[in-house]
Amino acid sequence: MMDNYDESDMVYCPYNKEHKMLRKKLQQHILKCRVIYKDTVELMVCPFNKSHLIPEPEFFQHTKSCEDRNIIVHYQTSAPAVLNEDTRHPKIESEENWDDDDSVPDYDPQVYCSTADIVREPNGLFPAQRKAFIEQEKRRHFGQDYKEEKPPKAKSRSDPYEPRKPFSRRQ
Ligand SMILES: [Zn+2]
Ligand SMILES: [Zn+2]
Repeated sequence: MMDNYDESDMVYCPYNKEHKMLRKKLQQHILKCRVIYKDTVELMVCPFNKSHLIPEPEFFQHTKSCEDRNIIVHYQTSAPAVLNEDTRHPKIESEENWDDDDSVPDYDPQVYCSTADIVREPNGLFPAQRKAFIEQEKRRHFGQDYKEEKPPKAKSRSDPYEPRKPFSRRQ
């Protein structure tokens, strides 16, 4: 192998150990592999900045070189950052596409109210309003011609042929 470079100058691609290159070429190489492997690697959240989503192969290197690391280290001088399970970012599922789901129509409260066979409760109304509301609801259910059916009037007590009783009991 005609290798003019010192082995210490050679680095491996974090995405594929088959990729070996000069350290100074790594940054440019990673840009390509980042695209090639973007669907197969997991993204992880940087412990120094939650807006950094780092492909797992680059994660360790990132935690050492993150630009926000210095700010944190400035305040917590002792312990190094603990990388726990919480820093793992769940892989985004691409199979589900909610935009294609036509089975649930958009909810239109106006249409719903006028078509649904529901009885709206006249809560929180004054008695007069409540009565008007109930009338309105009955017409809504039975038609505009609906009128409250009054029970037939009881026979007048002045009817001379009806014997007067001390207590009239409803049948
Ligand atoms: Zn590579
Ligand atoms: Zn970061």
